[in-house]
Amino acid sequence: MADDRTTKYVLNEENLSEAWYNIQADLPTPMAPPLHPGTGQPIGPGDLAPLFPMDLILQEVSQERYIEIPQAVQDVYRLWRPTPLYRARGLEKSLELPDRVKIFYKYEGVSPSGSHKPNTAVPQAYYNKIAGVTRIATETGAGQWGSSLAMACAFFGIDLKVYMVKISYAQKPYRRAMMETWGAECVASPSMDTNAGRAILDADPDSTGSLGIAISEAVEDTATREDTKYSLGSVLNHVLMHQTVIGQEAIKQLEMAGAEPDVIIGCAGGGSNFAGLILPFMPAKFAGGKARIIAVEPAACPTLTRGVYTYDFGDTAGMTPLLKMHTLGHTFMPAGIHAGGLRYHGMAPLVSHLFDLGYLEAQSVKQVAAFEAAIMFARSEGIIPAPEPTHAIRVAIDEALLAKESGEAKTILFNLSGHGSVDMAAYDTYLSGSLQDYEHPAEAIEEAMTHIPSRA
Ligand SMILES: *Cc1c(COP(=O)(O)O)cnc(C)c1O
Repeated sequence: MADDRTTKYVLNEENLSEAWYNIQADLPTPMAPPLHPGTGQPIGPGDLAPLFPMDLILQEVSQERYIEIPQAVQDVYRLWRPTPLYRARGLEKSLELPDRVKIFYKYEGVSPSGSHKPNTAVPQAYYNKIAGVTRIATETGAGQWGSSLAMACAFFGIDLKVYMVKISYAQKPYRRAMMETWGAECVASPSMDTNAGRAILDADPDSTGSLGIAISEAVEDTATREDTKYSLGSVLNHVLMHQTVIGQEAIKQLEMAGAEPDVIIGCAGGGSNFAGLILPFMPAKFAGGKARIIAVEPAACPTLTRGVYTYDFGDTAGMTPLLKMHTLGHTFMPAGIHAGGLRYHGMAPLVSHLFDLGYLEAQSVKQVAAFEAAIMFARSEGIIPAPEPTHAIRVAIDEALLAKESGEAKTILFNLSGHGSVDMAAYDTYLSGSLQDYEHPAEAIEEAMTHIPSRA
C-alpha cells in the first residue's frame, strides 16, 4: 500500500468483544492473595460479600481465561464501542518522523462520559442490579469514575452516592454537574457524612482530600447500610479484566493496519486503562515477544518507580483488605496535580505483579512536560487529551524521537484514555504559565512508608 492514508481503523459492532480476557489463566506465576488485616490470612469470597455482589467477587478470583460479557452489557457497549484506533499522522508530521517510525493510539474518549471508565462501570452496575442492589457508594478522584458510574447507574436504575476528592471538587465543578445530570449525589471528601471523613477534618480542617480518604468514606458508607454495595473504578482484578475490551479491539485494528507494536504505552494511576490495553498482548509477551510495555506515572505520585512492593491497605483509614502491590504507603498525600486520576498511593496488584516479574517497564513524567506534549498533540491531532493520558503521550513522543535519532524502525501504540474537554482549567493554568512541577520529596515518601503494616 504505497499511498495508504488511512487515519482511523474502525471496527463495526459485529466485532464487539463477546468475552473479557482474564489473564489469571495465563500468568507464569500466580498473584499473592489479598489478606485479612485482622488475621493475616488470605480472604475468602465471604469476606468481600458485604462490599460486592457475588458475581464480581467470583470474577475477582476466577481462573477462567474468558468470561462472557452479558448481552445487556454488550448492548450498552454498543453506544460507543468498538472505539477507533488512530494512526497519529498529524503528530508524526509535527515530529518530522521518518516512515520507519509510526505512532498509533487507541481512543477511549468517545464514550459518553469521555474516558475508558464506563467499560467497567456498566458491568459493575449490571451485576449489582441483578443481585437486587438498590444503592451504590463510591469515590472519585478527578470525577471521571464518578460520572461514568453515575451514567451506568442511570441505565440500570440504581441510586449512587459519590465521595469526590475535595481538591477536584473545587477544580472540576462540571464533573459534579455531570454526575448530578445522570442522577447521582456527589459530596466533597473528606465529608462530615462518615466517621473517616470527620476524623480527617478534625485533624486537618483544610485537608484537600485524597483517593485513599474517599475510598475509606465510601467503604464505611457501604459497611453501615443494608441497601448499599461498594464499587471501585480501578485497581481490582475484575476492573482490569473489564477493560480488556480495549486491547482486544486494538489487536484486530493493528492487524487491519498491518502493524505490530514495538512499544506499548499507557498512563497508570490505579492501572486499569493501562492494563486494559496491554493484557491482551501479554500472552505474546509471555511467549517471548519483544514488544516493550511501559507504564507512565506522574513524578508527584511515583508508585512503580519509587514505591515498594509489599502488602498495604487500599485506603487511608485502613479498612480494606491488605493488597500486595507497589505502594507509597496508604497515608501518602500526593501533591494536587491536575491528573487527579493518577493520584493514588498504590498500583493494581496485577500490574505490580507483572512489573515485579520483569514484563513491564515504568517511567515517571513531570506535569509541565506532560502538558507540553498534550499541546503538541492537540495542535496536530485535534483531540484535547485528559490530563492523565498526557503522561503517555509524553513518553510516546520521546520514544518516537529516540527512534528518529537512532535510525531504528519503531511502531508505537499508546492508549488515549480520555478527552480533556471538562479539564480546561488545567490547560488554562498551563497556558497562563503558572503550572508547577512537583516531585514528591524523598522524606515524605519515607515517612508514609513507616505506616505500611508489617509484612505477613
Ligand atoms: C481514571 C483515569 C485514569 C487513571 O486510572 P487508571 O485506572 O490508571 O486507568 C487515566 N485516564 C483517564 C482518562 C481516567 O479517567
